[in-house]
Amino acid sequence: MKRIVIVGASAAGLTAAETLRRRGWDGHLTLIGDEPHPPYDRPPLSKQILTGGWLAERAVLRSPHDLARLGADLRLGEPATALDTAGRRVRLGGGESIHFDALIIATGVTPRRLPDSDLAGVHVLRTLDDALALRAALLAGPRVVVVGAGFLGTEVAAAARTMGLEVTLVEPEPVPVRRPFGERIGAVVADLHRAHGTHLRCGIPVRRLRSTSGRVTGVELGDGTTLPADVVVLALGATPATGWLTGSGLRPADGVECDAWCQAAPGIYAAGDVASWHNPHFGTRMRLEHRMNATEQAIAAAGNLLGDATPFAPVPYFWTDQYDTRIQAYGIFPPDADLRVTSGDPSDGRFTAAYGHQGTVVGVLGWNAPRELRLLRRLVVEHALWTAVTDAGPCPPLTGDRRWESTRPRTPGVYS
Ligand SMILES: Cc1cc2nc3c(=O)[nH]c(=O)nc-3n(C[C@H](O)[C@H](O)[C@H](O)COP(=O)(O)OP(=O)(O)OC[C@H]3O[C@@H](n4cnc5c(N)ncnc54)[C@H](O)[C@@H]3O)c2cc1C
Repeated sequence: MKRIVIVGASAAGLTAAETLRRRGWDGHLTLIGDEPHPPYDRPPLSKQILTGGWLAERAVLRSPHDLARLGADLRLGEPATALDTAGRRVRLGGGESIHFDALIIATGVTPRRLPDSDLAGVHVLRTLDDALALRAALLAGPRVVVVGAGFLGTEVAAAARTMGLEVTLVEPEPVPVRRPFGERIGAVVADLHRAHGTHLRCGIPVRRLRSTSGRVTGVELGDGTTLPADVVVLALGATPATGWLTGSGLRPADGVECDAWCQAAPGIYAAGDVASWHNPHFGTRMRLEHRMNATEQAIAAAGNLLGDATPFAPVPYFWTDQYDTRIQAYGIFPPDADLRVTSGDPSDGRFTAAYGHQGTVVGVLGWNAPRELRLLRRLVVEHALWTAVTDAGPCPPLTGDRRWESTRPRTPGVYS
């Protein structure tokens, strides 16, 4: 194997490159990214970068010195436009075609937009350039409407409100973040936003954007009302960036479909937001848009490319920061899961909760409770019985309780 190509020069792509080198692979390495910037971190974009707490440089993931030490052919500002799976070549936007012996796909996701939303004043937030453009717009003191109250939408609303702006959050579901956390936790998130003065319009879809002379003026809702707006942020979720794989023979459905070893085809692996894979720990296929997963999956994919043969079986982790609150979660959160508060009280601004599905603890959540949450994580790692939570009182025992014993054998490869 002489040349490994990685497409996508961000969290997952960079980690994959570093893992290959750390593991001693010294062949030719090409890292291709369509953005002009050196690899940077996205979570600060909707938080510190938007509020002005950080300058853009602080989001950069590695110094120029560390990037140079990678010894990689770093192609920034160059999109991959096609993959020839049989011929083992990646074509670039400029027409160049690069041969590979092995490939890692780490192209992330692309934000969804509304039809006819190509208007001045309408923003999405995925890239550093998006964040800088939105920050510049927010500095003018506009009335802001955020469409979509998932994690990104709620974070943007919190950041804009922290800047003292008039903010309305619109969401077709009855509460924010209903998916994945369910109505009860969603209602606590709604209370948090109301307490900070953000207006909420939940349970109402958006009908269309209103505009004059190519500039957005408001958001018309399904009930016929219009929310005046100078800035509209579309936070409608994202789709895997797989357009360049059309005709490659890979099967992008919801992301690049991989097996439990993050392999999509012989010698072709995927990692991060773009990858869908079978997670043996939960016995289900999943695709995650979490920062931690980008790192962990890139390490696993690069390791398997080098011959590890270890299934990627993580307990997913993510966090979100909104105002003075940090919500963290481990595991998965099926829509029909049961929920139980395991410590604290949602009305006090500090609590933990567990989610049970088919008799097993599958997810745990901490609201300003990082230490308590870390202990609860074991419930998910161990496939603990749901009765360990429902019968054990507000704080489940950490040792010596048979209900904490694994109901299934520990999954090989699970991160603990
Ligand atoms: C604003 C924001 C806030 C977030 N906050 C949190 C948080 O608080 N907690 C959390 O857990 N997660 C958060 N996330 C999610 C987290 O940042 C992602 O899970 C992570 O960035 C995924 O890394 P990735 O490398 O897989 O994809 P990306 O970071 O999206 O990187 C993919 C790269 O590939 C490039 N690319 C795409 N197509 C091509 C192509 N054809 N050719 C070449 N390059 C291409 C893209 O431009 C991009 O640079 C946040 C995301 C955003 C956008």
